[in-house]
Amino acid sequence: MVQESGWGGDEASMRHFDAVVVGSGAMGSFASYNLAKRGLRVLTLERFSLNHDRGSSHGQTRIIRLAYYEDERYVPLLKRALAAWRELEELSGRRLLTMTGGLMIGRPDGELVSGVLRSAKVHGLPHRVMSSAEATEEYSAFELDEGVSVVQEQNAGILYPEACIEAAHSMAAAAGCEFHFSEPATRWHREGDRLVVDTQQGEYNADRVVLAAGAWNTSFVGGAIPLECERQVPFWFPSTGKRCFFPDEMPVFILEEDRSRFFYGIPDVGHGVKVARSHQGRVVDPDYVDRGVSEEDLAPVEGFVAHRLPELGRVPVASASCLYTNTPDRNFVVGTHPYDRAVVVVSACSGHGFKFASVLGEVVADIASDRAAPYDISFLGADRFLARR
Ligand SMILES: Cc1cc2nc3c(=O)[nH]c(=O)nc-3n(C[C@H](O)[C@H](O)[C@H](O)COP(=O)(O)OP(=O)(O)OC[C@H]3O[C@@H](n4cnc5c(N)ncnc54)[C@H](O)[C@@H]3O)c2cc1C
Repeated sequence: MVQESGWGGDEASMRHFDAVVVGSGAMGSFASYNLAKRGLRVLTLERFSLNHDRGSSHGQTRIIRLAYYEDERYVPLLKRALAAWRELEELSGRRLLTMTGGLMIGRPDGELVSGVLRSAKVHGLPHRVMSSAEATEEYSAFELDEGVSVVQEQNAGILYPEACIEAAHSMAAAAGCEFHFSEPATRWHREGDRLVVDTQQGEYNADRVVLAAGAWNTSFVGGAIPLECERQVPFWFPSTGKRCFFPDEMPVFILEEDRSRFFYGIPDVGHGVKVARSHQGRVVDPDYVDRGVSEEDLAPVEGFVAHRLPELGRVPVASASCLYTNTPDRNFVVGTHPYDRAVVVVSACSGHGFKFASVLGEVVADIASDRAAPYDISFLGADRFLARR
């Protein structure tokens, strides 16, 4: 167990916290930072180390974009998320993001393009619609079919997840949050007016518990929230020095190849161009994930690269295995636990949550302080699954 800040006071008060956060990945780190910043006494338990590679937040880069095809109700959260990333960048003195713009590519009537345009319209987000010929003229990395639409969004770019989590962790620690690494929570339960979180090292009393255990949240939500863990494998392909694959010339992109077949890519920021398909992975137990990469993982991505990014090197220089935690409607879970209102769940980001970590940390701190969050998060509530049972 690594304890990063000292213990003080008598035994009883040492073990009582205003909030215990379970997990210090993206959501847990930002929840910890925001709770500690508001003056709460916070303990964060993490099963592994900071920025380990067994969860959902590793892999050097993540896309941030505002014109959200998934659901326009995310846009107010996204606007604040982008501002909060910039603030944290300033405060921490670390480079957390690079704005490259984004291209959303697909059939005009497909889920991606129609959803992006709906979000942009509802929220007045700046964007430009291009034909495939106009897009390939401007962005020479791509080869696109005639008839596809390309929506270009200025407010899109790359987040550096490991740097973001390190920044949140150090700001949280500076605000007094205590981190215990290699100390998994084994369960939480209520004893009268307090919550208790158990680990193999001991038990901690808390007024609030925040469940931010990502793919492992299943074991803490008592069957109240149906979660499924999905294995994903992104690859990095060599840009062989071609400028068209670097961030000043290549935006981040998502491409809907055909119905429900999405690929995405991130320009070369030093490790090659990251390309992956989104979803379509195997459902797995997070404790037994095959970390090797098979031909089955590579073939569809290799085919996509040959077809859509033909100037890119064909042999990947790196790959990673990573986990999505999905809900049936692919929306997040952010809110109080259906069985105990003092427990806050922040997770199940269904493969698109990283960009929100900066704002969801604030939202969790609001919920845990009984303040109304200044956004409509009703569609993310944990209770929505109870009604379906
Ligand atoms: C390949 C891939 C690409 C993605 N691309 C994007 C993207 O471009 N843009 C975007 O916005 N999002 C993207 N996402 C989604 C995003 O990365 C996730 O939604 C986000 O990182 C989830 O963060 P989390 O904190 O919920 O999970 P994690 O970061 O996994 O954190 C959970 C933490 O809880 C810890 N934990 C587990 N059990 C316990 C326990 N019992 N006790 C204590 N600690 C415990 C784990 O060790 C872990 O550190 C992508 C995800 C993947 C896998």
